[in-house]
Amino acid sequence: QNAEPSSAALTPMMAQYFEIKAANPGYLLFYRMGDFYELFFEDAEIASAALGIVLTKRGKHLGEDIQMCGVPIHAAQDYLKKLISLGHRVAVCEQVEDPAEARKRGSKSVVKRDVVRLVTAGTLTEDDLLPARGANFLASLAMVRHGETDFGLAWADVSTGETHVADLTAETIADELARIGPAELVLTEATRTLLLERHLLSPVLAAAVSIVSAEAFDSEAATLRLREALGGDGVDPTAYSRAARSALGALFAYVEESQKGRAVALRAPTSEDAARLMAIDQATRSSLELLETQRGGQKGSLRNCLDLTVTAAGARLFAQRLAAPLTDAAAINVRLDAVERLAEDTMLTARLRTELKSAPDIARALTRLALERGGPRDLAAVGMGIAAAAALGQRLIGAGDLSEELARLGEVLSAAPQDLSSELALALDDDVPLLARDGGFVRKGYDGDLDAERALGSETRAVVAALQTRLIEETDVRSLKIRHNGVLGYFVEVPAGHGAKLLEEPHRANFIHRQTLANAMRFTTTELAELEGRIARAHEAALGIESKIFARLSAEILSRTGQLRGLADALAELDAAAALGHLAATRSYVRPEIDNSLAFRIEAGRHPVVEEMVSGDGQSFVANDCDLSGQIEVGGGLWLVTGPNMGGKSTFLRQNALIAIMAQMGSFVPAASAHIGVVDRVFSRVGASDDIAHGRSTFMVEMVETAAILNRATRRSLVVLDEIGRGTATFDGLSIAWATVESLHETTGCRALFATHFHELTSLQKSLSRVVNVTMKVREWEGEVVFLHEVGRGAADRSYGIQVARLAGLPEPVLNRARHVLTLLEQRAAGAAPSGQFGGVLDDLPLFAHQPAAPVKAEPKSDPVADLIDAIRPDDITPKQAIELLYQLKKRR
Ligand code: ADP
Repeated sequence: QNAEPSSAALTPMMAQYFEIKAANPGYLLFYRMGDFYELFFEDAEIASAALGIVLTKRGKHLGEDIQMCGVPIHAAQDYLKKLISLGHRVAVCEQVEDPAEARKRGSKSVVKRDVVRLVTAGTLTEDDLLPARGANFLASLAMVRHGETDFGLAWADVSTGETHVADLTAETIADELARIGPAELVLTEATRTLLLERHLLSPVLAAAVSIVSAEAFDSEAATLRLREALGGDGVDPTAYSRAARSALGALFAYVEESQKGRAVALRAPTSEDAARLMAIDQATRSSLELLETQRGGQKGSLRNCLDLTVTAAGARLFAQRLAAPLTDAAAINVRLDAVERLAEDTMLTARLRTELKSAPDIARALTRLALERGGPRDLAAVGMGIAAAAALGQRLIGAGDLSEELARLGEVLSAAPQDLSSELALALDDDVPLLARDGGFVRKGYDGDLDAERALGSETRAVVAALQTRLIEETDVRSLKIRHNGVLGYFVEVPAGHGAKLLEEPHRANFIHRQTLANAMRFTTTELAELEGRIARAHEAALGIESKIFARLSAEILSRTGQLRGLADALAELDAAAALGHLAATRSYVRPEIDNSLAFRIEAGRHPVVEEMVSGDGQSFVANDCDLSGQIEVGGGLWLVTGPNMGGKSTFLRQNALIAIMAQMGSFVPAASAHIGVVDRVFSRVGASDDIAHGRSTFMVEMVETAAILNRATRRSLVVLDEIGRGTATFDGLSIAWATVESLHETTGCRALFATHFHELTSLQKSLSRVVNVTMKVREWEGEVVFLHEVGRGAADRSYGIQVARLAGLPEPVLNRARHVLTLLEQRAAGAAPSGQFGGVLDDLPLFAHQPAAPVKAEPKSDPVADLIDAIRPDDITPKQAIELLYQLKKRR
């Protein structure tokens, strides 16, 4: 650590460094020195390792070398991005006065420096640092104790100003955080401890936590802060719960602190009522690969497959809708009406999408302008955005016959302030630079004074050219040139051989010697110096005018922030609707029928992602029906799905959950028809998930998740479960699966799909009225299996484990041995084979003790070994399971 040393040992600069460093604990300090940000001591070690830049030394401190590394200003963004993505926080410290000022105070004094910005993952505003097509949320979670514990969650995308708040309970925290996926989560130490104790922080989130003091969450201070920030928008802070207010207060304070006093334009928060959204917990999100695949990639995720939006803002909205489908049938149908209109009118949709492509990201440009971090390109973006919005509004209204939502969007868009966009188009060049600082972005003809200064500048340049001609004539040095550089400004240059001539009469009086180089000599003249002064003054004046124009246009834009944000929202909504319309039209998706029944009838449903993959390989996806419809008073249907590995069970299970999610986000679905009664929660546990990071075994995780489902699913939920009970001994597993199916059917009454390897479960169809057995069909052909991927009524009669193992490339000798063992096991089960045939080793194990096969019963008996043996269905177990069984039995003996 950079312990504060005794002041006697410090240079003034180091004293300043330590002071600033101490005021910003936990941040890497980017300390501005000239054209570099320098890092010292431990910061330098961390940064040089993270960024792969050279660690150097600069002077000594307390007898030790001072470690140092630096990043050049012009490349600072790239380095910042890398550090932030690695989870570091950076305090950017600038020189806040002209070095000349410091020199005036005395030779020992240092340039004043101050931290102007704290850069953290959740407070980014620069396009280079932000995910282009994703939101970047900063969240803060407040905990209020009064008997019970209430939680308030506030979250904002600082780059767009969008802000939300919700009241939560301990049960809903994890799901909400999973849905929002914040880049940074602000908490007190106490809250973090509690979340960790209750396993409510995923490893990803735990790494995104920023700890602040408890005072930051003080709800009284929050009320004042919110009143100040949002009072103008007519927001009454006391309308929020104490927990919500306290979360908002901490969020606003954190953002303000990070921008060091610049007014952050967060919007009035929208209250989110979790009951209006389909609840999808973290395990389900990852199992269904909604926004990313289980490996963390984009390709193969549902979003990647469905998102055809053409703007960044549209993509952000699309992801939000996909992550939070609705539960209000009427609201879903409003979205579907819009999509239907656009799916049918492919010409209109194509035109809208083309025009949308040229609509820039207004929301992020607005924020940068508000933070005084914007440039001419942000002005241009707003101007072009307004123009595009107006044109789109006209096109929509012109198309006529609009749905409720499209009509509203048409109205908002066509009211775009075109006076402002025309003004911006007049003022700005077609191609503007990134920074306002260097000028050169205002169009010629826009401002008379500016044009005059520029003309003066360029006229003077012409005068310089004329002067060169004249000097050549006067001196008779043909190769004389007037040139310019940063050190000397304008100067006269002649080849070395001619230099002497100018040092003599009659030229001596006119030419003042400046510099002698190996092959040239440089001079200036009074006239040239004067011209130079004029050019510099004209340039200064032009810059001054441009910066005033920039400030005026920027202010004009900011004065209409509210309306412009409305436009940005409308553009994003139109993009999302047009993308879904285009998707429906190009992939032959249909409009789902959504109501408040307990229907779930999908005809010829397909898996949207697998379908695309399979058809990419030139094959065709096999569509399958699914009907889990039930009645609210009784409960929904439960399909028990059996079939061999690779038969298509998981695909079938997932596709039905995905169809429900797509339908409720307001999308058409991959099916011939679909009727869905609104689903309040989806639970999907398909495919193994290991939670090694939490130190829990696969089986433990599976049980925790099953418990969550049984405790939280309601009659309106859709539960999709794959192979419950697989992670333990067959007997335990079967009983757990058995009891789970019974509970889902009898107690919960939800609509459910349950895939299993325990064929014993299929007998439940007899006792549970809404259970239906289905199986993935296979055909056997010359000893090989052919998977038909077709769902049919009935139960699978075999597992085809050895055939699948063969497809997977298990060596032939192992397969032969497995076949042999299987035959013997089957004979044993039938009571036909004498034990001697198994060879010495197997014979010793109780599994193979001579005993007639017993029918499987659900009721456990007292002898665990006998129970275990009873539960074995040799036909149905894989070789691996057989070996596991052997170990089990050996243990119990
Ligand atoms: P299981 O869960 O039964 O082991 P999967 O659902 O993982 O089987 O399916 C295995 C593979 O079969 C998938 O990767 C996919 O390529 C293919 N598949 C599954 N269902 C279908 C289908 N309906 N149509 C075409 N191919 C399918």
